Amino acid sequence: MCGIAAYIGQKEAAPIILDFIKKLEYRGYDSCGIATLNGSLTYKKGTGKIDDVDQKINFLNLKGNIGIGHTRWATHGEPSDKNAHPHFSCEGNIAIVHNGIIENSEELKKILIKGGHEFRSETDTEVVVHLIEDLINEGNTMEEAFAKTLKLIQGAFAIVAMNKNEPNRLYVVKQSSPLVLGVGDNEIFVASDVLPIQLHTNKVVYLQDGDFAVVTNNDYKIKNLSEIKVNREITILSENLEEISKGDFEHFMLKEIYEQPESIKRAFKGRIDKDNAKFGGLNLNIDDIKKIKRVVLTGCGTSWHACLIGGYYIEEISKIAAQVEYASEFRYKNPVLGKDDLLIVLSQSGETADSIAAIQEAKEKGVKTIGLVNVVGSPIARMVDGGIYLHAGHEIGVASTKTFTSHLTALYLLSIYLGRINGNLSKEKAKEMLNDLENLPDKIKETFNSVEEIKKIANKYFKSKNALYLGRHYNFPVALEGALKLKEISYIHAEGYPAAEMKHGPIALIDENMPVIVIAPEDRLYSKVMSNIQEVKSRKGKVIVVTTDESKNGFDEIIKIPKVSEFLMPIISVVPVQLLAYYIAKERNCDIDKPRNLAKSVTVE
Ligand code: GLU
Repeated sequence: MCGIAAYIGQKEAAPIILDFIKKLEYRGYDSCGIATLNGSLTYKKGTGKIDDVDQKINFLNLKGNIGIGHTRWATHGEPSDKNAHPHFSCEGNIAIVHNGIIENSEELKKILIKGGHEFRSETDTEVVVHLIEDLINEGNTMEEAFAKTLKLIQGAFAIVAMNKNEPNRLYVVKQSSPLVLGVGDNEIFVASDVLPIQLHTNKVVYLQDGDFAVVTNNDYKIKNLSEIKVNREITILSENLEEISKGDFEHFMLKEIYEQPESIKRAFKGRIDKDNAKFGGLNLNIDDIKKIKRVVLTGCGTSWHACLIGGYYIEEISKIAAQVEYASEFRYKNPVLGKDDLLIVLSQSGETADSIAAIQEAKEKGVKTIGLVNVVGSPIARMVDGGIYLHAGHEIGVASTKTFTSHLTALYLLSIYLGRINGNLSKEKAKEMLNDLENLPDKIKETFNSVEEIKKIANKYFKSKNALYLGRHYNFPVALEGALKLKEISYIHAEGYPAAEMKHGPIALIDENMPVIVIAPEDRLYSKVMSNIQEVKSRKGKVIVVTTDESKNGFDEIIKIPKVSEFLMPIISVVPVQLLAYYIAKERNCDIDKPRNLAKSVTVE
């Protein structure tokens, strides 16, 4: 994770880099730092979120037209001032920032310490700067030392380095962690993603794995790790810059929950064609589709929950066998994959390291891969054979909300498409299902009518130490997602279970202090879920029911949701559990958009 940024040009570097790392803070906020070159190398760094650190140490006092910056999500070494990036060589001439993990840092560190290098942090990163220094001391130029260092380190890394003795150059490399160059007039920007760059220039270069570059204010020379020159095209970003602001909302998360009627619309807009779905970039031909025997869906966190529902869709709507895998487990189980399989990868950021590894595994085994990704041009979007962009807009809240419902929308459409092509879904049914989807945004708006009720429930239960979420079938992954949201932003321990599994263990947890949130729309399993609710009530558990049924009494709390088809119900029923987590976290005064220990893009394995 981590956000890295750099600037070289005619302007003051610090204000630009400060703005960049603030925009990259979704990637981590354990500590931050900036170094600039202005004859000498100066730096400031501190522990905590950028605004707080900046207030204390004032980054803008740093002068110079070249600099590097970092916002950290700690992997090696606790969040502390000394572990904050940039890191420096013993002589203090070289500074670096790094995103990723140097997997062989321990052994390299031992060798470097033997060679007389003094380490000032516990990070894996610091070995890189000492290696460069060591190689320079052996007579290499900075460029040679940088290139040789890259051959010695293993793992995932996006690195920017600068050397006091070369005040007009930045050295950058990308290997498994993202890095983008922005090309301006006599200035070059570097960042972990295009978000901060796009305000300065629409010309960007997405570096590829293995690329390293020497960057000046008006040039960049890219080579691969074998030191052969490579050409990377300039991508021109589209004009429509999306404003990143909370608007009238107190938090990005709340804004993003309320955006869902619109973000869902964007996920299906232009993708409905009378009695079928249509896609621009799927790159699957009809014969390929007819041959698909099994779909494997993979992702992490909230995306994995969306995969679970997607698996149900693919089996029930397209009638193709579906299997759901945690991306982080997938490649280590040496999965049996064949040419008639299709791998579908879900990711908001498009740069999740575990999901990238899953794609690589599938590619090695000759399997076609499809990405359902939000961030346009992201690494996953560029490495899969075909894909569907979600067009959900920037999701800034670390706890994902609108991406989940956009993923479900895309999966629903994709299942219809596969089912129509392989002949397992009738025209009539497809038409009805597409019509249901077009009505969904208005139904989502209706769920917001329950917000006052949800606030009251939050106020009543926010001191709970634990919570249980139950649901069945399409609403079981919603129970998992509700529990995850609560854990992420309120730090209350929560578990999600299929309602019927409760009696096989979790029921032992139930007493008068345990709120049990049950997702119970009136679907084909409704009466069975009602029995599960009775089992909770008999043990004095507090039952909060998310339901379409107005007539039911006897629950402790009811959150009313509108009726929709059972396929679309998880897109509706998740909204109140997102809101419940939000308002509970608010009652607990938690930092909702930047929950502790988390980062939005998980770019380390
Ligand atoms: N491994 C480095 C550190 O702990 C960078 C962390 C990251 O990229 O998330 O400081």
